[in-house]
Amino acid sequence: MPRQERIIRPWERRKVTEGKTAYVSRDRSFYASNAWRTASERYRRENPFCVECLKADMLTDCSPGTGNGVTDHKVPISSGADPWDESNWQVLCHKHHNSKRFKERKDRQHGDD
Ligand SMILES: [Zn+2]
Repeated sequence: MPRQERIIRPWERRKVTEGKTAYVSRDRSFYASNAWRTASERYRRENPFCVECLKADMLTDCSPGTGNGVTDHKVPISSGADPWDESNWQVLCHKHHNSKRFKERKDRQHGDD
């Protein structure tokens, strides 16, 4: 019996996670997918401003249309949200995205992400 360990290479993993439902449990590969990148870029073209900067009237801090922002899920997909539900999307600049991630991580009380 061959005791060779099966190594899953990155390109094989991508194949495994294909299909929208698989992305929900593997949000890391979801964010790396071409489908998400394309959709996210399109969304940021349509919504160039960080919603938090808009709220705080701080638009000088995030330059519109430079691709500096990120498309964020208001309800994180790691909490079971549908990653493709655009009503759950918002554009954040890196500063606001980082502080949201930080808060989410604190809320979840585990640091493996
Ligand atoms: Zn912002």
